[in-house]
Amino acid sequence: MRRYVFAGNWKMHKTVSEAVALARALREGLDKEATPHEVVVMPPFTALPAVGEALKGSPIAMGAQNMYWEREGAFTAEISPVMLRDVGCTYVILGHSERRHIFDETDEGVGKKSRAAFDHGLTPMVCVGETLTERESSRTLEVVERQVERALRPLQSEEVASMVVSYEPVWAIGTGRVATPNQAEEVQAFLRRRIARSHGDDAAEAVRILYGGSVNPGNISGIMVQADVDGVLVGGASLKADSFLQIVNYR
Ligand code: PEP
Repeated sequence: MRRYVFAGNWKMHKTVSEAVALARALREGLDKEATPHEVVVMPPFTALPAVGEALKGSPIAMGAQNMYWEREGAFTAEISPVMLRDVGCTYVILGHSERRHIFDETDEGVGKKSRAAFDHGLTPMVCVGETLTERESSRTLEVVERQVERALRPLQSEEVASMVVSYEPVWAIGTGRVATPNQAEEVQAFLRRRIARSHGDDAAEAVRILYGGSVNPGNISGIMVQADVDGVLVGGASLKADSFLQIVNYR
């Protein structure tokens, strides 16, 4: 059975005590109703050590929302993959659209980070997605192709097979506007074909491709029925235990 990924990106929300309370509530919820799938939470940096402690021994994995590609050095305010491993992260989101569009992250930077993530034992969750202008000018596939190609270029096929790619149309993030299941499936299937070309059929079959963009308990089943959707990356609806748990246990 394929293991889907349900990931919660808490973005710049939650103090340490709020984050621990949410982590504990998720842990309790999954004790009551276990899932065969992978559940990952991505708290802000400041809460990672405490959430890591709160989740110890639980089936919930923890990831960070970003990182720098060097292991240490004079890079004021940056966080390295070694530091993330040290506090219990196993995943890291790379190239989230808010990083690309608000903080000017480049495709090449995302590629360097993907390489560094694997070099230090983290699984990258690389985000790709088009803006509304790009979609309206029929450039969606061209944009996601460029993003995925550059993010995965430094990686071996076995690495790609074990990683996660998340298709997140920028116009659907935090807007309440969800891509229709068909719109999502068209891009997800395209990404899988593109990955087959660059890293082979086995890697393309194994890589988990998520959908992200205004996912909530009401629309999750329609999204999950699509053939090329292997889970979801959730922002707003992951900030409350009950809505995130409803998404995880969507059936
Ligand atoms: C996200 O943060 O990646 C995201 C998809 O956010 P939201 O679910 O709030 O649209």
